[in-house]
Amino acid sequence: MSALVYLPLGGADEIGMNMYLYGYGPRDNRRWIMVDCGIGFPDAAHAPGVEIMTPDPAFIAAESDRLDGIFITHAHEDHIGAVGRLWGRFKAPIYCTKFPAAIARRKLDEFGVSPKNLNVVDQNTPVKVGDFSVSFFPMTHSIPETSALVIDTPLGRIFHTADFKIDDSPAFGDPMDRDAMRKMAEEGVLAIACDSTNVFEPGFAGTEDTIKQPLRDVIAGSKGKVAATTFASNVARLKTLAEAARDSGRAVVVAGRAMQRMIEAAVQTGIMTDFPETITEDEARDIPDDHLFYLVTGSQGESRAAMARIAGDSHPSVHLKAGDTAIFSSKTIPGNETEVSRIYNLLAERGIRVVDDSMADIHVSGHAPRGELEEVYSLLKPKYAIPMHGERRHLHEHAVMAPSWGAEAAFVVPNGSMLQIAPGEPKIVDDVDTGRLYADGNQLIGAMDGVVRSRRKMGMNGHIAVSVILDDNGDLVVESDARVTGAPEESKDWTGEIEGVIAEAVDGAIEKLKAKDRRDDDKVEEAIRRAARSTASRLWGKKPETVVMLTRLD
Ligand SMILES: [Zn+2]
Ligand SMILES: [Zn+2]
Repeated sequence: MSALVYLPLGGADEIGMNMYLYGYGPRDNRRWIMVDCGIGFPDAAHAPGVEIMTPDPAFIAAESDRLDGIFITHAHEDHIGAVGRLWGRFKAPIYCTKFPAAIARRKLDEFGVSPKNLNVVDQNTPVKVGDFSVSFFPMTHSIPETSALVIDTPLGRIFHTADFKIDDSPAFGDPMDRDAMRKMAEEGVLAIACDSTNVFEPGFAGTEDTIKQPLRDVIAGSKGKVAATTFASNVARLKTLAEAARDSGRAVVVAGRAMQRMIEAAVQTGIMTDFPETITEDEARDIPDDHLFYLVTGSQGESRAAMARIAGDSHPSVHLKAGDTAIFSSKTIPGNETEVSRIYNLLAERGIRVVDDSMADIHVSGHAPRGELEEVYSLLKPKYAIPMHGERRHLHEHAVMAPSWGAEAAFVVPNGSMLQIAPGEPKIVDDVDTGRLYADGNQLIGAMDGVVRSRRKMGMNGHIAVSVILDDNGDLVVESDARVTGAPEESKDWTGEIEGVIAEAVDGAIEKLKAKDRRDDDKVEEAIRRAARSTASRLWGKKPETVVMLTRLD
């Protein structure tokens, strides 16, 4: 019996690293398509030293010969970011429209994947792969050319919204085509897989238009230099900001490669035709402060981005001083508050005025709040709702709301759960292993492999290395040696250096072992480790990670 199933591997337990699978066929011979292949950003406290994570795609990597296509809805990193990094595990054709393709090409190139694997398709033109027929349906969002996917299968139609908001006067492209959606409703929509990001927000997000005047007011009311930050990928916002600056008689400098690349991609693909003229950072030197405007990266407080460097006055070319203004035309993503407020404080300390969306209406969200979600449900009239693109609490809230918007039933399907959508009543039919991969140095490692866990432990409790040399009988050849990293060396609470006290305790523990045990490496190492850690704990009150190097001389 053929069934239609939905299986999220990422994105349905977090806002980030989206990766959704749809499968069709008999259980033992299902064919798959993947929707999106994104990255996430782990927080530094949880995964020190890791800046990028991806879903663990082991499930679909093991059946990659049954994966018929990878569909990318739009060019945000949480949807496209892993397409180069993970492609080697799937080796399936990629499908997307022109603008995301411009971004994907660079990501494939970075990992040596041939651009031949990338198929550029037009919106509203069905792509047939196996039993699936998939159309890219234009939606409005905070990056150009975002598409929902209309996925037709022998068992019914799924509308996968991707990320969207309803913007009736978008900076690029057309407003959402309500007539086409009404027509889809007449034909029947079996299920909607729907963005849950703003499910807790009432009302409507508002169009990009509404922030133009407030932004002009802020910029016109600023003295000295102005630097504004937003997401590099929010091309519409970059244009809104640049136009507001131009209208206030300021020359626009785009500082930061990520932003320059996005603007270039939008111009090269013909999406953006009228971005205000910009000048280089060099040319800016000859222009008076009152006539300068910088567009910079770093709206989320990223430590290596331009805004953080400007705040610390370590940017190579952009220098703000007391009386200048920094504009955050963005929303702080949950989890980034600490970093962002650190930047605010650095700026404040130097007398630089900070303006954000709490002080002026200079940001609109790219995700649909309740009013817009309800409108999409009422246009499409889906039978079933599958909330996605959210943390667990967003998915649950969305599932609670969906029936009031007309859905017959809603299903919370977290990462790794397989929902059989049809035939029959939808139900969870399987659970597969999922998780996260961390990009660590040049390796992709499993989040549960222990690498980052032991690094975190070292970060919290320090590290002891003990070197012990024994003869065949298990007698000490020389006194043992200990090295401690990340611990106080001396204190009035103990005599001598902590390393010496630990080494002595280790020697004492070895001497206390029975002669037979002293010839057993495992027993000796365990005794050493225990002595080192309990000594550190007794003196300092912490138990560092401990490494034992045991040498036997014969
Ligand atoms: Zn997203
Ligand atoms: Zn997005």
